[in-house]
Amino acid sequence: MNLKELFTKKIGIRIVDLARRTTTCKILDELFETEYCNIDELEAIQFQRLKELLVHCKKHVPYYRQLFSEYKFDPEVILSPSDMECLPVLTKDDIRNNFSRLKADNIMQFRPKLRGTGGSTGEPLKLYHDARSHGTMWANMYRGFGYGGYRLGERYVTLAYGSLRPRKLRFGMPLYFWFQNTVTFPSYHIEKENLDEIFRFFHKEKPKYLFGYASVILQLARFLMSKKRFIDGLRAIFTTSDMLFPDQRKLIEKHLGAPVYDNYGCPEAGVLTNECDQHDGYHYNMETCHIDIADKDENGVGRIISTNLSNYAFPIVRYDTGDIGQLGRTGMCPCGRSHSKIRRLMGRQRDIITLPDGHMLHGAFFNHLPEFYQDDRITRYQIIQPAADKLEIHLALADRAKISDFDHIVKSLEENFKNQVSISLEEGNFRESSISRKHRTVISDVDNIWTVSS
Ligand SMILES: [Zn+2]
Repeated sequence: MNLKELFTKKIGIRIVDLARRTTTCKILDELFETEYCNIDELEAIQFQRLKELLVHCKKHVPYYRQLFSEYKFDPEVILSPSDMECLPVLTKDDIRNNFSRLKADNIMQFRPKLRGTGGSTGEPLKLYHDARSHGTMWANMYRGFGYGGYRLGERYVTLAYGSLRPRKLRFGMPLYFWFQNTVTFPSYHIEKENLDEIFRFFHKEKPKYLFGYASVILQLARFLMSKKRFIDGLRAIFTTSDMLFPDQRKLIEKHLGAPVYDNYGCPEAGVLTNECDQHDGYHYNMETCHIDIADKDENGVGRIISTNLSNYAFPIVRYDTGDIGQLGRTGMCPCGRSHSKIRRLMGRQRDIITLPDGHMLHGAFFNHLPEFYQDDRITRYQIIQPAADKLEIHLALADRAKISDFDHIVKSLEENFKNQVSISLEEGNFRESSISRKHRTVISDVDNIWTVSS
């Protein structure tokens, strides 16, 4: 470790903790203690924390007090997490409609902060995170980086926008990043000049770790591909927030020269899951959240429902994350960890296209089309399904291309879908989430079995 890394580890992160009023370092130490526990030990810790949280809900949170009484649910006598499956799932609308009743009556002792989160429809959701829950999110992130070799204090580059990087850096923000030893680049409305600047930085500084939205990192990889350039010196790339498909992963790994460790998270529900070096699923943070799967299909795939075990100010119990996946209790992974894994993460419920004949098509379908991923004149694309029989293809193009060059995509897709849908093509006009500014490749407004709750 060099001097700056040592400083960050011993002092910098602690200063950030003080400024944020979090206890990330302490929580991280606790998470390291349980990192290699066996599954029985992990489940015991998880159940104990779940029970404590639910008892707190019964005593201090008006919304849950009423709900528990309606469903004759007594957290003090539960014997396993499955006992709470009798409770309904908590939706974003439930949170909006019961906002003040979800606050604990002793909320101030948990040092809460009001936070907004973006939704796929662009509707913001506000909720309180307490200091412990906030610190836990950071600690889980650092532990997850460790799966790719990162050690606390080492420098990493952040390539993200929205919630991970405020667009306008306030006074003090540069210092905030400096103490964490991270270098950030603006990537909202990323332009070619930014990509060039990022490439030059990597070339000169040779950072070892990169963290950012998969869609932004993919944009960088596509830029490098178009220039026939490669980055070297990276040890691991941590992607987050957007679905990452196999061809995209390959492209990133080829041009950025390091393995991708994808993660999946839902911060309001306390979920932060990470790939390990086996890259076959996402170990989930069992010590600080509880996940179960609702409305499973025959393969066990269903809606991911999570309880945040750290947020006592504004407890989130059985929350519908809006994501689809499968959960596996697999015993010890070859990496040595036993945390259950989310497998077959299918992304958002709205990433699924449902055709008029009822056939469902996952968004990944489009990412496998060579028309999209092999053509470097397309710098970005998005598929929107406004109605069952309509698909819109939105493209951002390199300077030398014009939209009519891509009529063949419409033709081949119409043939693929047996002319059940009419397809239009347009340049730009992407649909963005208003809060997080995340880019989503596929957005369907058509309901499927998972968007209509049972
Ligand atoms: Zn593993």
